[in-house]
Amino acid sequence: MGEIYDVVIIGSGPAGLAAAIYAERAELNAIVIEKNVVSGGQVLTTYEVDNYPGVQGIGGFDLGMKFREHADGLGATFVEDEVVKIETDEKIKKVVCAGGTYEARTVVIATGASHRKLGVPGEEQLTGIGVSYCATCDGAFFRGKTTAVVGGGDVALEDAIFLARLCKKVYVIHRRNEFRGARSLQKKLLSLENVEIVWDSVAEEIIGSDHVEALKVSNVKTGEKTDLAVDGVFIAVGITPNSSGFEGLADMDHGYFKAGEDCCTSSKGIFAAGDVRTKQLRQIVTAVADGANAITSIERYLTEE
Ligand SMILES: Cc1cc2nc3c(=O)[nH]c(=O)nc-3n(C[C@H](O)[C@H](O)[C@H](O)COP(=O)(O)OP(=O)(O)OC[C@H]3O[C@@H](n4cnc5c(N)ncnc54)[C@H](O)[C@@H]3O)c2cc1C
Repeated sequence: MGEIYDVVIIGSGPAGLAAAIYAERAELNAIVIEKNVVSGGQVLTTYEVDNYPGVQGIGGFDLGMKFREHADGLGATFVEDEVVKIETDEKIKKVVCAGGTYEARTVVIATGASHRKLGVPGEEQLTGIGVSYCATCDGAFFRGKTTAVVGGGDVALEDAIFLARLCKKVYVIHRRNEFRGARSLQKKLLSLENVEIVWDSVAEEIIGSDHVEALKVSNVKTGEKTDLAVDGVFIAVGITPNSSGFEGLADMDHGYFKAGEDCCTSSKGIFAAGDVRTKQLRQIVTAVADGANAITSIERYLTEE
């Protein structure tokens, strides 16, 4: 029989890396399985992080690297592979990856979340050549140009404010006639002269062949369609939990694992940490807190087992 780990941690974003740090310090026999070549998760695509205590204004990539170096420094073991499913019985969990299967007494699912797509014509074809899901990553390519942000939540407002610093003009396409994002962001956005809000409107098509030429928007009240000449389209319409393949493993709510601060799911020995669990606030600071809590719960679970 192969090695049976105390814990397999799936994902090496902030939650997975914090779990790895706590697991090493608790002297658990742990491995982290990450599908990407680089650790850090969504933080890697963040231009600047200004709300993580102690490191004001740090680049997202640098913060991700700091987290990973900390885990490496404590001796954490990483495997580059993609987990496709988890088989569980009373005691042992089988974590099935594309390249092999790992057995463990407990599992921390810290697979995070991904950007939601619009599902309109042109979106897929023009992704990476004018269509982006991360203004902080790709905004610089549109310096002096005209862009559109689709969405009306905090991320959309932040993206539009960020782009307005670089772009000649920024349209914000919002399906309602008021924003639901934070008031402070709304105030800032509405004060910017190079930002035009296109209220009551949805994106219908992104037009272009080898680059974006226009965004077709439709007014939901009048049905009127307009082609906005833009060089780039930034899509900020929400996120989806990375939990496909894990359906039926434990109780979920819209794909998020139902778990409280202790990160315990409805399935014994299965813990969910970070953006992939039900929670009020999906941020780095809450993800790392989950990593710590998940391992604390696991220590208790392994003792009582
Ligand atoms: C553009 C942007 C800007 C942001 N800005 C900020 C900010 O300024 N401040 C802040 O606090 N938060 C910010 N956030 C949110 C923050 O990044 C997330 O809340 C945080 O990264 C969540 O951490 P996580 O570990 O739960 O998940 P993630 O960061 O999503 O990491 C999940 C990891 O799991 C891996 N994974 C997924 N599925 C599998 C699988 N099947 N097998 C193996 N590995 C897998 C992924 O590759 C990834 O590395 C931002 C997010 C985005 C997208």
